Amino acid sequence: MTTSLWIRDPLAILAEDAEGGVVVQGGRIVELVRAGRQPIRPVDGVFDASGHVVLPGLVNAHHHFFQTLTRAFPPALNKALFPWLRTMLPVWQHLEPGMVSAAARLAMAELLLSGCTTAADHHYLFTPALQDAVDLEVEAARSLGLRVTLCRGSIDHSEADGGLAPVAVTERRGHILEHTQALLERYNEPGDGAMVRIAVAPCTPFEASTALMRDSAALARRYEAPLHTHLAETEQETQYCLECFGQRPVEYLEELGWLGPDLWLAHGVHLDDTEVRRLGARGVGVCHCPSSNAVLGSGLCRVPELERAGCPVGLGVDGSSSNDASNLAQEARQAFLTQRLAYGAEGVDHLDALRWATEGGARCLGRRDIGRIAEGLCADLALFRLDTEPRFSGHADPIAALVLCGAHRADRVMVNGQWAVADGQLVNADLGEIMSAHARAARRLQALAL
Ligand SMILES: [Zn+2]
Repeated sequence: MTTSLWIRDPLAILAEDAEGGVVVQGGRIVELVRAGRQPIRPVDGVFDASGHVVLPGLVNAHHHFFQTLTRAFPPALNKALFPWLRTMLPVWQHLEPGMVSAAARLAMAELLLSGCTTAADHHYLFTPALQDAVDLEVEAARSLGLRVTLCRGSIDHSEADGGLAPVAVTERRGHILEHTQALLERYNEPGDGAMVRIAVAPCTPFEASTALMRDSAALARRYEAPLHTHLAETEQETQYCLECFGQRPVEYLEELGWLGPDLWLAHGVHLDDTEVRRLGARGVGVCHCPSSNAVLGSGLCRVPELERAGCPVGLGVDGSSSNDASNLAQEARQAFLTQRLAYGAEGVDHLDALRWATEGGARCLGRRDIGRIAEGLCADLALFRLDTEPRFSGHADPIAALVLCGAHRADRVMVNGQWAVADGQLVNADLGEIMSAHARAARRLQALAL
């Protein structure tokens, strides 16, 4: 039998009937303890959580780890999406395997320290040197103890075909599909409690051919794997789709047989009423990336309307050169503030933001085994202290304080029943070493590119 741990009497917890805490065992939450009660079964250990606010582990539903290497990069500043991509893709074509590892470890460390327990990464650069990029990400996730959905991205439509990407970052469709299938066979854990999932993820409708889009959906469905892409991020993208396909982005995906509950889309900003209804009716997930949308000036996602229509909505920090942080707790606050600008003080509250950051993201990734604190679910938890920083001093509601005062660093993070962060530090790695290796990799990439 594995040992059990009672996370006892938290200051506050985002769960029903669990004021006395939770018992975890074998990677699962096995019991919720009511106020003033003891666990039903004897426990092997107790963690005093009286100074902690306990949340379900946060879920990051969209990211590009490699972009941490080009944060605050002068050539990319103050540009909208298309010119930004035209500037950055030729830089990223110089990526090397060591840089991918360093970037994944830094991004994962930053996410874990912000309370994130599951991250989706969309890697779409598979130059001849980077064929092992997903393998390197799996290695990094396993060593740091983070749960991941790794999206095998792809680009087969270049500048020469009227797209945006340099030929150097494109691949042949046949190779993309074979390689994605090999990754699904090698790493995808389809069952409950999976630590690694693989998703099929052509980059965007303007960087993937129609044939690749169609074949990717068929491959994902053959393996019952999730399907992902960027969609409706900017008005320019809508214009591109109208000119090239004679359709708006959602119509295009619908014709290709993409829409379904196994699909989640990054952004979903420029959607008209019909598109919101269509996505909702098919249960398509939308990952809201408020910081990225603000930095690139892309626009505002219609989050409450998408949820009302039936779409799960999650949050993504997106690539760290369009954000430029990988902090999911901060992203929840950003979503709360941004959505309030559109829907008013009574239209959105802090619990909405925390739902998007947890259960909403989990549902985007097709997971019912994470994202909430309930019996039988995976033991993924984020614990925040409110007594270590002036920003929280004087708070009344501890859960509201996380969003309103701006939590940004978890004190303890548990993934699958194991502590991955303890006392604000990574358990399985040295943050200083990760940061120096990452800074070296970033300097090298930026030097190669300039
Ligand atoms: Zn993205």
